[in-house]
Amino acid sequence: MKQSRFPKLFQKLSIAFSRRKYQLLQDSDLHGKENGELQELKVNSKKEPIVPVSSKEASTRYLDELVSDLQADLQNGLTAVHVQERRLLYGWNDFEVAQPEPIWKKYLGQFKNPLILLLLASAVISLITKEIEDAVSITLAIIIVVTVAFVQEYRSEKSLQELGKLIPPECNCIREGKLEHLLAKELVLGDTVCISVGDRVPADVRLFEAVDLLIDESSFTGESEACNKSAATLTEAGDLTSLQNIAFMGTLVRCGNGKGIVIGTGENSEFGEVFKMMQAEEAPKTPLQKSMDKLGKQLSLFSFAVIGLMMLIGWSQGKHLLGMFTIGVSLAVAAIPEGLPIVVTVTLALGVIRMSKKKVIIKKLPVVETLGCCNVICSDKTGTLTANEMTVTRLVTSDGIHAEVTGTGYNGNGNVHLSSSGEIVKAFSNLSVGKLVEAGCLCNNAIIREDTLMGQPTEGALIALAMKMDLDHVKQSYIRKKEYPFSSEQKWMAVRCVHKSRETEEMYFMKGAYEGVIQYCSNYSNGGMPVPLTPQQKTIYIQQQAKLGAEGLRVLTLAAGCELGALTFLGLIGIIDPPRTEVKGAVQMLQSSGIAVKMITGDSKETAISIGKSIDLYNDDVEVMSGEQLDLLKDEDLSLMVMKVAVFFRTSPKHKQKIVKALQSNNAVVGMTGDGVNDAVALKCADIGIAMKGTGTDVSKEAAGMILVDDNFSSILCAMEEGKGIFFNIKNFVRFQLSTSISALSLIALSIIFNLPNPLNAMQILWINIIMDGPPAQSLGVEPVDRDVIKRPPRDVKDSILNKGLIVKILFSAIIIISGTLFVFWRELPEGKISSRTTTMTFTCFVFFDMFNALSCRSQTKSVFQVGLLRNHVFLYTVLGSLLGQMAVIYFPPLQKIFQTENLTPLDLLFLVGLASSVFFASEVLKLIERSWSSATQRQNGPKSGL
Ligand code: ATP
Repeated sequence: MKQSRFPKLFQKLSIAFSRRKYQLLQDSDLHGKENGELQELKVNSKKEPIVPVSSKEASTRYLDELVSDLQADLQNGLTAVHVQERRLLYGWNDFEVAQPEPIWKKYLGQFKNPLILLLLASAVISLITKEIEDAVSITLAIIIVVTVAFVQEYRSEKSLQELGKLIPPECNCIREGKLEHLLAKELVLGDTVCISVGDRVPADVRLFEAVDLLIDESSFTGESEACNKSAATLTEAGDLTSLQNIAFMGTLVRCGNGKGIVIGTGENSEFGEVFKMMQAEEAPKTPLQKSMDKLGKQLSLFSFAVIGLMMLIGWSQGKHLLGMFTIGVSLAVAAIPEGLPIVVTVTLALGVIRMSKKKVIIKKLPVVETLGCCNVICSDKTGTLTANEMTVTRLVTSDGIHAEVTGTGYNGNGNVHLSSSGEIVKAFSNLSVGKLVEAGCLCNNAIIREDTLMGQPTEGALIALAMKMDLDHVKQSYIRKKEYPFSSEQKWMAVRCVHKSRETEEMYFMKGAYEGVIQYCSNYSNGGMPVPLTPQQKTIYIQQQAKLGAEGLRVLTLAAGCELGALTFLGLIGIIDPPRTEVKGAVQMLQSSGIAVKMITGDSKETAISIGKSIDLYNDDVEVMSGEQLDLLKDEDLSLMVMKVAVFFRTSPKHKQKIVKALQSNNAVVGMTGDGVNDAVALKCADIGIAMKGTGTDVSKEAAGMILVDDNFSSILCAMEEGKGIFFNIKNFVRFQLSTSISALSLIALSIIFNLPNPLNAMQILWINIIMDGPPAQSLGVEPVDRDVIKRPPRDVKDSILNKGLIVKILFSAIIIISGTLFVFWRELPEGKISSRTTTMTFTCFVFFDMFNALSCRSQTKSVFQVGLLRNHVFLYTVLGSLLGQMAVIYFPPLQKIFQTENLTPLDLLFLVGLASSVFFASEVLKLIERSWSSATQRQNGPKSGL
């Protein structure tokens, strides 16, 4: 890879700077200006400052040299003092995105808008022609319009920035002799970090331990093949891709595990500059944002054409040119919905922040929109539909002894007692049970310390079982020579061990799914003696494991022996993993709103069906399919069958992608959950990839568009509710803005066509624009999500916001507003002569119409009284604010001058309120008709399906 010289230069400069900073710190120390941090530094002041080591240099340096240069300790890690000292020198392990533009510059940037410039020009012309009042009013209006636009844009930027902070990367690091789980930004030079499959490398590290380590460096090399890494010192350093003993920040561990010492953090890392660029990059726009941009542009063109035409007509009628020009430009400012794309962004971003409070993190904004279209959700079973709290409840040994286990949690509370006699079993008091439990404890990587589990819950359950039988100490009697790790593909795990007292005799212990383990067995244990396995015996075991599965238990098969292909079958262990309590309701809710839910699990058919039944996901009308069957089916055949299958069992991650593709070929919009490294492809391929924060690997989180913080399936329901709600809120906003925009344009156009005086002056038009684009309109975007929204069927992906139904509603409201306002204008125009009363009445009438229109736009289908008149507090405050503003404009003398208004009587106001409320009542009646019509059709056709 070609390296730019810039990062190197930057690195040198930063090292020089750090040395200088260190010197300064020491100087200040000498001068007695001590604070807490400096005092600690003083302790180490005799040492040379630590400097970052370039990856090339680190790769060829002997480890002990590097460790001594970085004053590190590979085994015990750094001390708190060291960490603080180094952080003071090099800061946090993250990137400061270049200082954004100062606020005043951003504010002035708003004046670059050509329309604003035109308005400014008209203010200047008014000044030259000595129409001072006009000039002042226009300037004031410009300032208000620009400020409103600036605040909105600033808010949108800020909320987008917040999104980036929702999932800070984490890492495992050894400090003061203990393994700690930290935020990656807390790492400093010389830290010892542990990386394992699925992790994102948290800083540049020189590896000193690497077991089968494969790292995906495609984020900067573009190479899709993962690189083999080792801990050996290199004799010579080539380009960065050849540095096998260096793991670079931001790359992903695809396989194996390793340990390394941090040689570069934050901007001192090899790709610091690249990351900085990536962070500063603007997020791609969502389809909705793009379509709103397009709509905004189309409407602008249309408005320009209409305004141009109006000015031409007005000019031909001999109207005052500058006046016409100012009105035209103000109208352009008002009619062009420049707020449209901004509101979409703010609404999306605020929705995403709201979702994060409900334990769902949206990584990519477009997901919010897709959530409303999603009609199939494929979910893992373990940990997502179930609680992932595993407890062994049943044992069946190879010689037919049944035992029950009591007690819950990862501790030794509880007993194992034989089903036949009730006798409590301890250690090897029953040899067959003892051997079975011993194998489960040895072939195991989990640790339980002070009732806390470190490791996989399945394995934790086996350790807890051993604790109940006082067998957990057996691990200390063996030395593990090799591990054959568990994978979802092979579905078993084995270890090769020697007993400490018989070091020449190797033993294998294996646990896993029945089909996987039985292939390695040639005998079964009968009273502790190996007896050859017969087909009859195997049939019995198959029946026994199916029976345990049918009770909803996860079944593990155990075996042990001296030779991997000739193991002795020891028996079966049944583990309960209850469904999460909220899942059943969530599945029912999703299904009733036309969203199909499918379970994809590595567990057996019986277990999958049993759990499926208990959460209403499986019934006699749907089918099940195994991973093996999936392999045999051609894509076309699968696509014909896939919709009917609700449970996929004994699958591995590779099947997920095949399922997603088959569903998508049926025009389904698919949400797919996943947590493992191998799930990444399916997560990317699905329309919504859903990863788990707790159990998920960094690789799966990287590939996903959405992350469930509590790994809980029902959080998907909350996210869908929000996603749908956001879409409707944007729709409400669009309806409001377009109806106001069309009304304002038509009002002026009609008055010009009929050669009437202008019903609204420029200032009044700009005021209307503030209401239309500003706070009251924006508050429609934060309308609390209507709980019933989830019951609506998924939206068609091809549906645009501005569909026929919405256009009709927009025109409906606009016609009422225009007719009402024109009526007031006509009524207040004695003998065709315009007075300030005429404009005040017309203007106030329009503003009141707008407020009532906004009120009815809060929901497209429900009555505002159903939604809750006072539910959206922001809306209430903004409407109240706008009304107070309007009163000030009418009654406050300085504003009267600017807006050319005059006092209205209470009776006038009452009349206007009565008239303007017509738009609200008319649209409420329209909603009522729509509601009864749709419930009548629903009764006829039954509930709609999402597909
Ligand atoms: P999902 O999370 O996708 O619903 P799962 O977690 O049940 O599925 P896997 O983890 O692939 O699926 O497990 C499949 C089978 O492999 C289990 O039924 C069990 O028999 C076996 N198994 C699970 N974990 C282990 C393990 N740590 N060691 C050995 N065998 C295991």
